[in-house]
Amino acid sequence: MDSFDVVVIGAGPAGGQCARALAAAGAKVLLVEKSKDFDVNNFSTAGSLNEVMEDFGLPQTVVGASWREVYIASTNDQVNWRAEEEQGVVFDFAALRAFLADEVKRSGQEVLMGYSYHSHQEGGDHSLVDLKETGGDGHRQLAAKVIVDASGAQRAVLNPKLKKWRMVEATGIEHLLQVSDRDWELWRDKLAFFIGNHWMPQGYGWIFPMERGRLKVGVGRYFAKEKLIPHEESYRYYLDQIINQKLQDPSQVVDRHGKTLFYSIGRNDAHVHGRVIGIGDAISMINPLALEGIRHAMWSGSTAATHILRYLEKPDLFFYDYKRAIRSYTAFSWRACEYLMRQIYREKKDLRIDAVVRAFKHLSQKEMIDLCFHYKGKLAIRYALRLIKERLFN
Ligand SMILES: Cc1cc2nc3c(=O)[nH]c(=O)nc-3n(C[C@H](O)[C@H](O)[C@H](O)COP(=O)(O)OP(=O)(O)OC[C@H]3O[C@@H](n4cnc5c(N)ncnc54)[C@H](O)[C@@H]3O)c2cc1C
Repeated sequence: MDSFDVVVIGAGPAGGQCARALAAAGAKVLLVEKSKDFDVNNFSTAGSLNEVMEDFGLPQTVVGASWREVYIASTNDQVNWRAEEEQGVVFDFAALRAFLADEVKRSGQEVLMGYSYHSHQEGGDHSLVDLKETGGDGHRQLAAKVIVDASGAQRAVLNPKLKKWRMVEATGIEHLLQVSDRDWELWRDKLAFFIGNHWMPQGYGWIFPMERGRLKVGVGRYFAKEKLIPHEESYRYYLDQIINQKLQDPSQVVDRHGKTLFYSIGRNDAHVHGRVIGIGDAISMINPLALEGIRHAMWSGSTAATHILRYLEKPDLFFYDYKRAIRSYTAFSWRACEYLMRQIYREKKDLRIDAVVRAFKHLSQKEMIDLCFHYKGKLAIRYALRLIKERLFN
């Protein structure tokens, strides 16, 4: 039977980054991914900030486009901020995951595509892990000192039975479109968001650029199974509406994809259990405000790698302080964003959503980036204080 220091389940940004860091540090690692290749359900819109490139040493080959403008439209209003400098990137999500997996192989470690985690049993100083071939009869059993649950919203290893009623369910669908030169020029360097009941009740729509001539257009809805705001139309209706109202020329669909995410209110997922440690969406690292998760997934992957290496050297440390490290990263900002999420996406009245956009007009570009991407700033603090007040008096 093959034996590894660490088996990482899931080759998303969290698992890929964790396995890459462990492999670079000399650990014996296996990265397991249930999809046969990274083009299968290439679901993430994958917008991020420039700093992520340097923080994680990423090459330009994983970037689909750069952006310098953020545009937000509500049903009756709109606001935009345009910078001289490029502010961020939109990843080619498949290329990003493939790059991280290739880095694992370059460090001499193994990547197993097309296999799913099935179960594990804890033994003396290692666990026995059962893997099954996706859509086939293949089966592998391995020994691992540590298992990393990086299976994203599925939480396959650590929290498969987490109570769904404590979770916010959000579903997004997206089309990758080949568009005319005219439409490409209009949207090529912007992250555009569409909020309000006209665009997507209980959620938002978006247009993000990809490689030349291609745009990602999508819609996502929070509390996906609940009808907090009366609406009858399908996701597809709202997606087509953005395409029809915001693009000037006919476009061609290159790829369709989507995914349902689960975020645990209060981030109550178990972070560690026995020899299993969780990272990324499997422990609700995704930020609930606009569901930005790649940076946070990669950060948790790197942080877990540091704690795992310490554990491999000195097992009695037992992932000492991992949960505290994660908690101090998410800390109060995630709670404030949970509050904001519930305020914005459960709001029935367009007038109040328009008012949010009007309030945004008072923010400088830096303040907007601080609020939307660093989850801090004047507005966030005001909301956070309201949250404390609510907690204290309810
Ligand atoms: C429509 C949409 C748009 C988004 N847009 C953005 C954005 O613009 N910017 C941003 O930062 N974030 C965005 N996100 C969120 C972001 O993509 C996620 O937060 C991020 O991908 C989480 O990374 P992860 O590695 O934790 O999980 P995932 O990326 O979900 O990776 C988990 C991996 O585990 C594999 N897996 C699952 N179960 C098993 C199993 N049993 N065995 C083996 N493998 C398994 C899956 O196939 C998958 O490859 C978006 C999400 C959605 C749904």
